[in-house]
Amino acid sequence: MKKLRCDRCGLELTDIDEIDIAFEGMAAWHASARARGIEPRGVLPCKHYIRCGGEIRPVTGDGVFWWRRWATGLFSR
Ligand SMILES: [Zn+2]
Repeated sequence: MKKLRCDRCGLELTDIDEIDIAFEGMAAWHASARARGIEPRGVLPCKHYIRCGGEIRPVTGDGVFWWRRWATGLFSR
């Protein structure tokens, strides 16, 4: 099962609707991050971004980040 997890504080998004919303917002987050000179690591900034500075990244059920492979497939075309 896939879910999203903050790479700093460990906050998890497991609800499929929340995950869909996160991916819908991803392009806007990436654009605003790059505009500020930040290379985005994940799909979205964490809900606690001000405190933890983390980003929400996709993980499998056993906690492996699959973001890189996913991103490669999406962006390398
Ligand atoms: Zn966090």
